[in-house]
Amino acid sequence: MNERAAPGRSVFVKLVAIMLTMAASLLALVSAFFVLYLGPLMNASIDGVVHEYVHTIAPSSPNYERAKEMAARLDVETRYEGPAGAWATSDALPKPADARRHGRGMFGGRHYFVTSAPDGGTYLFAFELSERMRTAHLLVPAVLLFLVAAVVFAAHGFLRRLLLPVRLLSDGVAKLSDGNLDVVVPRRSGDEFGALTDAFNRMVGRVKDMVRTRDQLLLDVSHELRSPLTRLKVALELVTDRDMKTRMTADLAEMDVMIGELLELERLRDGRGIVTARQNIVALVADVTRNYDERAPGVRFSQPASAIFADVDAERLRIVVRNVLENAVKYSLPDSRPVEITASQNGESVSIRVADDGPGIPERDMPNLFEPFFRVDRSRSRKTGGYGLGLSIAKRIIEAHGGSIAVENRLPRGTSFTVTLPVSP
Ligand code: ADP
Repeated sequence: MNERAAPGRSVFVKLVAIMLTMAASLLALVSAFFVLYLGPLMNASIDGVVHEYVHTIAPSSPNYERAKEMAARLDVETRYEGPAGAWATSDALPKPADARRHGRGMFGGRHYFVTSAPDGGTYLFAFELSERMRTAHLLVPAVLLFLVAAVVFAAHGFLRRLLLPVRLLSDGVAKLSDGNLDVVVPRRSGDEFGALTDAFNRMVGRVKDMVRTRDQLLLDVSHELRSPLTRLKVALELVTDRDMKTRMTADLAEMDVMIGELLELERLRDGRGIVTARQNIVALVADVTRNYDERAPGVRFSQPASAIFADVDAERLRIVVRNVLENAVKYSLPDSRPVEITASQNGESVSIRVADDGPGIPERDMPNLFEPFFRVDRSRSRKTGGYGLGLSIAKRIIEAHGGSIAVENRLPRGTSFTVTLPVSP
C-alpha cells in the first residue's frame, strides 16, 4: 500500500497554488494600475496637449493638403464642414455632431476635438495613438505575463526538487509500514531533509536488527528445546500413572508441534524451502475443504466451472488453506452461517477467499495478525487452542510463492482472508 497525499492536501500542490495566487494578484495589481491610474493620466495629458494644439491650428484655417500633411506627421486626422466645402483626411471619421455625442475615446482609443473654423465652418480633429504606440503598451502586460509564467514554472521545478526528499521519505515510510525492512531512502540533499533521511535509514536499520535478533532467538530456543523434548519423551515411558501419562503425552505433542512450526517458519524465511509443481488449485482447495464438512457451522465451497493451474508447493499450500479454514471454523459463533470459500482467476493471478461469519478482528490488531505468537484475545484463544503461529506460517508460505495474503472484516460481522498467487503461464 503506497499512501500518497490526496492532490488537494499535498504540500507541493498547496505551495504551487500559493505561488499562482501571488502571481495572479501581482498581475491584477499591475493591470489595475495601468487601467485605473496610468491610463486616465495619459488620456488627460494627451488631451491637454492635443486640445491646445488644435485650438492653435484651427484659427489658421488649414486646408485639405495641410491637414493631410498633419495626418502623416502627427497621428491627427481632420474633417471639415463649412462654407469652403466638406472634406476629411480619413473615411473613418464621424460627423462633428456624432463625435460630440460619443465624447472622448477610451485609453488607447480615438479622441475627438471639435472646434469652429474662422469662416464659420466646423473642424473635427481626431487623435489616435499610432499602431506602434498601442503595440508598445500591449507589450508591457504581455512581457509581464511571460515573466510571471517563467518565474512560476521555474519555482515549480525548484519546489519539486526541494520536496523530492519528502516524497522519497513518504514512499519509504509506506514500504516500511507494509513490512518491507530492506527499504533505504536515498539521501538527496544536505539540508534538514537530508538529516531526516539519515535518521529514517538508521531507524530502519535498528528495527531490522531487532527483528533479526527476535527471529534468531526464536530459532535458537526452538533448536535447544528439541533435545530435552526427546529426552522427556523417553522418560515418559517410565511414568506408570496412566492419567498423568496421557496428559503429559498430549502436552509433549503440543510442544512438538509448536517447535516444528517455529522451525518451519525459519525454513521458509526469504522464500527458501519451497518446491513447486503445476497444481490444480480448485482440486486442492476442494480436497482440504472436505475435512471440514462435518464441523459446525459447515463450509460451502463455490467451485469455479474450470480448473485453475498454478505452480505451487502443494503440501505447503494445503497448510495455508487448512490454517485459514481452521480459524474460520474455530472462531465461528454458535449462530454463525457456514464458512464460504471461493477460488477465482483474475488475469495473471488466482485468489482463494475464505469468509466467515464470526466475531471479526479488531482493526487495531490487523497489522499484527501475521506476527508469530500474536493472538487477538489470549483468553479466547486459550479456549480455542492454538498459539498464534498459523497465520504467520501461512504468510511466509504465500510470500515464498510470490503471492500475498490479506484480511478484512465483513459487514455486518465476520472476517475474510484472501490469498493471491500468480497462475502458471
Ligand atoms: P491461532 O493458532 O491462535 O488461531 P493464528 O495465527 O492462526 O493463531 O491466528 C492468530 C489470531 O488471529 C488468532 O488467535 C485469533 O485471535 C485471530 N483470528 C484468526 N482468524 C480469525 C477469524 N477467522 N476470526 C476471528 N479471529 C481470527
